[in-house]
Amino acid sequence: MIVTTLGTNGWFDTENGQTMCTLIRTQNFSIILDAGYGIRRAKSLIDFSKPTYLLISHMHLDHTIGLHTLDYLQFQLPLTIVVPAGQKQAFEELVRPPYTNPWTKMVPDGSKLLDTDELADADLPFEITTLPILHPVPTHGYRLGIEGKTVTYLSDTGYCGNAVKLAGGADLVIAECGALPGTVKGKENAPHMEPEICAQLAIEAEVRQMVLTHFGAGAYTTMSLRKNASDAARSIFPNLTAAVDNMDIVL
Ligand SMILES: [Zn+2]
Ligand SMILES: [Zn+2]
Repeated sequence: MIVTTLGTNGWFDTENGQTMCTLIRTQNFSIILDAGYGIRRAKSLIDFSKPTYLLISHMHLDHTIGLHTLDYLQFQLPLTIVVPAGQKQAFEELVRPPYTNPWTKMVPDGSKLLDTDELADADLPFEITTLPILHPVPTHGYRLGIEGKTVTYLSDTGYCGNAVKLAGGADLVIAECGALPGTVKGKENAPHMEPEICAQLAIEAEVRQMVLTHFGAGAYTTMSLRKNASDAARSIFPNLTAAVDNMDIVL
């Protein structure tokens, strides 16, 4: 499988990156993690003859603003969209007139909107575990079992036990790094992580590889600040990379 970080900025687009979107391409299907403006890049990468699953972590706009471009992607098969438990109404209120077209008109007939409480009956072609993670609005992390590998997606979150659980032993953890090194006070109450906290989580959860993404646009104003972040984190957990837009990780 190929994991591609299509949008790696938190909060808003800058010259350094677009807002949050990560694409996972496998033999038989694609998974899109979050729908910031990076989602537009999925159009040239997805094999639309295979099913696609869109997993939304939470409704903050840097993770959902690209939903109004769903019709640009021109899905050919019904799309399955997953939002955190209790967030279907928020999704339907956001992706409708007068803000954009109704979501049901932007995707093929038969497309489904599920919340994380409905996944047990969803008959997905991959294993999925979700847990709420630490953020000011309902937010879920995702642990995915695909082609014998485990990929965990943690965005947005502060350090919390559920994040560690979801990451446990994963082959790849895609972790948010919204804050600059050394700026998070009281890590278990913060809405975001800094690189050192990400690296400590990687060690605690015994993960194989970690990619940092969701660099806060107001804090990470240059790409060299991302490099500083990965240097700080790698001094604690070496198998770690700072994502840039359009970066591939092959698993
Ligand atoms: Zn965010
Ligand atoms: Zn957020």
